[in-house]
Amino acid sequence: MSKYIGSIDAGTTSTRFMLIDKAGSVVSQSQKEHQQIFPQEGWVEHDPLEIWTNIQEVIRSALSQAAATASDIAAIGITNQRETTVVWDRATGQPVYNAIVWQDLRTDQICKSFSETDAQAITQKTGLPVATYFSAPKIRWILDNVSGARQKADAGELAFGTIDSWLIWQLTGGTDGGQHVTDPTNASRTLLMDLETLDWDDGLLASMGVPRNMLPTIRPSSDPAHYGVTKADGPFGDSIPVAGDLGDQQAATVGQTCFGPGEAKNTYGTGCFMILNTGTEIVRSENGLLTTVAYQFADQPPVYALEGSVNMAGATIQWLRDNLGLIKDASETEEIATSVADTGGCYFVPAFSGLFAPYWKSDARGVLVGLTRFVNRAHIVRAALEAICYQSREVLDAMVADFGSPLEMLKVDGGASNNDFLMQLQSDFLDTEVVRPVIAETTCLGAAYAAGLAVGFWPDLESLKANWQSDKVWKPKMDSELREAGFAKWKKAVERTFDWVDTK
Ligand code: ADP
Repeated sequence: MSKYIGSIDAGTTSTRFMLIDKAGSVVSQSQKEHQQIFPQEGWVEHDPLEIWTNIQEVIRSALSQAAATASDIAAIGITNQRETTVVWDRATGQPVYNAIVWQDLRTDQICKSFSETDAQAITQKTGLPVATYFSAPKIRWILDNVSGARQKADAGELAFGTIDSWLIWQLTGGTDGGQHVTDPTNASRTLLMDLETLDWDDGLLASMGVPRNMLPTIRPSSDPAHYGVTKADGPFGDSIPVAGDLGDQQAATVGQTCFGPGEAKNTYGTGCFMILNTGTEIVRSENGLLTTVAYQFADQPPVYALEGSVNMAGATIQWLRDNLGLIKDASETEEIATSVADTGGCYFVPAFSGLFAPYWKSDARGVLVGLTRFVNRAHIVRAALEAICYQSREVLDAMVADFGSPLEMLKVDGGASNNDFLMQLQSDFLDTEVVRPVIAETTCLGAAYAAGLAVGFWPDLESLKANWQSDKVWKPKMDSELREAGFAKWKKAVERTFDWVDTK
């Protein structure tokens, strides 16, 4: 009997592989960073072949640590940085260009070329604004700018994939017959998939200038028919079904077992990523959130989600460390912030690159307001932590307004969720219970769950829920008048960030 599920996490800065057992525990893991390539201001690329090389290395290393072989592994699941775009030659397996990363801004002009009416129609179909973040404009850029690419694409010689597709193709055979597939969570980030039909849409393909023959087949995120098997001369040395595929934030949602409508998770990393399960209903946001697919398992109907993000969360703490030298390490912030009773009346809005949901103001810039001679380093550190929680509250308020019912509790994960003071603040600011699970590797866990469900390693969602155990719970204890007064001041501070950059 196979003891493990193998989980590949192909992230933005690094690649990991983990072996996960039935209890959802991590048995062994290996991780490797890859190069961030910045050819021009605003451009961000990765080398897809480097990512594939690193994947093979981390797989071999984690297998050897656990003295495991392919026969110990029931299935492979994959989770990935979303939207990042790879276009490769089907015959040679060579990418025609580097992967264009989700953060890359080069497609700004392509995105601006859509009329307001066209952009609205695209949003209606995809749940996404037309923005540089998503894949289709990146594909278009490659076809328009790489010599010969458009002709080759029209002749059916090129394949497009997000990183999941690229890696599944490699794992299952590459030029020797690899499978060209993706799942609805990844496809829902391309601007090419209709949220209702879960299929590529001809109108969207035409408006984005992308030929259909480049696209992968959209298969369930957890697929009992599995996408393919690993090739015997690959890193596993034998055939293992590849059966689970989820974009990273959706994988964390599955890893947190947010399977019911109204359940939400927030990941506190560099930024914050919040996802609220809205069940089988598509909720279109009136508050600047994205509508996306949370997961689609086997022959079950898709489960949808609202998503909102904060771009400066843990990154604000890095800024205190690297740009101001106020702290040496992020972990010090808890002790420093609790050395004072409050922020001394100061507010810090880290709108360093504008404000995302619910404001969407690219001309906003950061402010530190309410300063007096009393304010010291500890107050500023505390205000930075408060900023993470206030920004998360604004996104969650938008979600609750769109969804129409309040949150019962918020499940949390990510590096900064280890800060107990931050989590208490979050609970206080939301007036909602905040819960951190024992197994914090929710992204890898989610991909493993998708693969394990497909092959019967776990029988059902209930068995996954049984694996989820709370490590720590924070209950709101802030006086409601104080909470709302603080929030009102925060909103006032946010207004101070507006219209800072001259647009002319
Ligand atoms: P990512 O996956 O985005 O790289 P992680 O989940 O590894 O991020 O979390 C790292 C981020 O969390 C960093 O930005 C760091 O500043 C922040 N962070 C880590 N530990 C703490 C802490 N104890 N308190 C506050 N922020 C923290």
